[in-house]
Amino acid sequence: MTYRTDYHIHTTFSDGKSPATDYIGPALSAGLSEIGFSEHLSLFREKQEWCMNPSNVTSYIEYISSLKEQFPDIKIKTGLEIDYIPGGEKELDLFLADLDLDYRIGSVHYFGDKTVDLNPDFYYGKDFNTLFEDYFDIVMAAASSGLFDIIGHCDLIRIFGHKPDFDPEDLYRNLARIFKENDVVFELNTNGRNRPLADFYPDRRFLHIFAEEKVPVCINSDAHLPARVGQYFDEAYGLLTAAGFTETATFTKRQRRMIRF
Ligand SMILES: [Zn+2]
Ligand SMILES: [Zn+2]
Repeated sequence: MTYRTDYHIHTTFSDGKSPATDYIGPALSAGLSEIGFSEHLSLFREKQEWCMNPSNVTSYIEYISSLKEQFPDIKIKTGLEIDYIPGGEKELDLFLADLDLDYRIGSVHYFGDKTVDLNPDFYYGKDFNTLFEDYFDIVMAAASSGLFDIIGHCDLIRIFGHKPDFDPEDLYRNLARIFKENDVVFELNTNGRNRPLADFYPDRRFLHIFAEEKVPVCINSDAHLPARVGQYFDEAYGLLTAAGFTETATFTKRQRRMIRF
C-alpha cells in the first residue's frame, strides 16, 4: 500500500464545513497514512469570513495537537495555509515565529486588495496575459520569502478557466527553479477539479518541469468537506509517476522527510 498524505484540509476553524474529527474516518477510508490541517490565516485583511481569527491560532494548534493522541490510527499534522501579501513579510515572520507547526503552506489568494478565487468578476476587463505573469511574480516572491515550507496551488490564477495566449512553459520553468533554490515544496492540488477550471493545480502539462528541476512535491486535496479528503488521489499519483516523481514530502515540526510512493 502506498504511503499517502493529505496536508491541505480546512475545518470549521476557518471556512471548512465540518469539525476536524469528521475528517479522520474518511481519511482512513481513503487509505491515507497522514493528514494535516491547514486553516486559512491572513494578517492583513479585515472581515474575512473564510479565515481564522489570528487570535484563535494558539487554541487551534493546541486542539489539533490533542487529536494526535486521540486518533493513533493515523498521523495528524498541524499546519496553516497563510496568505502571502508582498510587503508583509516581517510582520508575518514575527507572528509565525513561536507557533508549534509541522508545516506552513504559503498561498497567494490576493492580487492587490482583491482575491483571485472568490469571484469571476475579478477577471472582467483585465488583460489575462499580464495578470498571469504578475500572479507568477507574486508566487515566486512567496517562495523566496523563506516563510513557507509548501506553496499552495501555485497557478490558482487558472481557477475560472482563463488561459494565457502565450505558451507559459518558461514561466513554469522559472517558477520551478525558484522553488528549488528556496527549498520549498509545491503541491499537486486536486481541488481545482471541483472548480470551473475542472483540473488540478499546477497545469498537468508542466509537471515534468518540476520533476526535471527536482522540486519536492506533495499531493493535497484542499478539502473543505470530509468527503473530499484524498479526492482524485489515484489519478494524481499516476500523474506524478508519469512525470518522473518517485517520492513525496512529509513534515514534522517543519523538518521535511521524503517518502517513496
Ligand atoms: Zn488556498
Ligand atoms: Zn486551502
